[in-house]
Amino acid sequence: MRSPLYPAEELRRRTVAWAVKLRVNPRVVRLQDMRRKWGSCSSRGTVTLATDLAEQDGRFQDFVIVHELLHLRFPTHGRLFKVMMTTHVPGWRALEARRRDGAGVNGDP
Ligand SMILES: [Zn+2]
Repeated sequence: MRSPLYPAEELRRRTVAWAVKLRVNPRVVRLQDMRRKWGSCSSRGTVTLATDLAEQDGRFQDFVIVHELLHLRFPTHGRLFKVMMTTHVPGWRALEARRRDGAGVNGDP
């Protein structure tokens, strides 16, 4: 029997599963209270997700997770970045409205 997981652990598992699928290798995945954004990705490979993202629906979680993980391959929101978003999270543009900061989900312009 599979043991029940806390939402934060589910979010972490989901992120690891996406990292495998996208063939990226974040150095660290951490959860942290973030009031003004849902996630971020540092140039050193640390992906940070907002703790309360775990309470959002799975589709929105995927949107934020894929966005941040893709930054490990594409630093900017260029054409290839958007093509990859559309491939993996079809309809992702509709989810942009749920961004917290009015910019990118990770706070970049
Ligand atoms: Zn971004």
